[in-house]
Amino acid sequence: MAYVFEQMEATDYEKVNTKLKNRDSLDILRWANQTYGEKLVYACSFGAEAMVLLDLLSKIQKEAHILFLDTDFHFAETYELIERVKERYPTFRINMAKPALSPEEQAERYGDELWLKNPDQCCQIRKLDVLARELEPYDAWLSGLRREQSPTRANTEFVNQDKRFKKVKVCPLIHWTEEEIWMYIKLHQLPYNELHDQHYPSIGCTYCTKAVMPGEDTRSGRWAGTGKTECGLHAPTKGDS
Ligand code: SF4
Repeated sequence: MAYVFEQMEATDYEKVNTKLKNRDSLDILRWANQTYGEKLVYACSFGAEAMVLLDLLSKIQKEAHILFLDTDFHFAETYELIERVKERYPTFRINMAKPALSPEEQAERYGDELWLKNPDQCCQIRKLDVLARELEPYDAWLSGLRREQSPTRANTEFVNQDKRFKKVKVCPLIHWTEEEIWMYIKLHQLPYNELHDQHYPSIGCTYCTKAVMPGEDTRSGRWAGTGKTECGLHAPTKGDS
């Protein structure tokens, strides 16, 4: 059976996840690389999990396709980190994908500071539409989601039916804890975003990311005070994550 979205039923995801159940993250990456080859892309946020996933991926596929949703609103530290990643893994094919609208065009069409007035629409334009466009040539995408990150991610499996983007989503890090992520980063002296050392556990756009005080939920600095917790790239329900 071809493991592509159009040919897979919900039970096929259960079967493949049962088959992969006791494998480790490297095995999952190997499976994804063998199954999808050039039709596999890693949609990378360049957060802490991404540093681990990139390093593991470099052991499997040195020329992996990496996709970064460049909203134009990222921190300077994030862009600087991407340059360091390019130096460490020079053969990765990193695509810095831009929205159809520049910040100026967005302001002209929807008014200033759309991220304050309507963050869902802003994320739609600057992230979701871009991901949908850039995933088009691929059958599957990798994501660094971990189950313990939030209740909406708790049911994520290794291989997921992504109904929103009509692709297979592969998540090799679902069982990793935050502590394990940081142990791996330190052990292998991986580059990481300097903002993590300044109380930013989860880093997105400058306008929607705040520092988090010790003891607070690690994702509470994202869209703080708006009730929004996810940008919409990762749908929450089981089988649709
Ligand atoms: S995170 Fe904020 S600034 Fe970035 S795309 Fe979403 S709403 Fe816009």
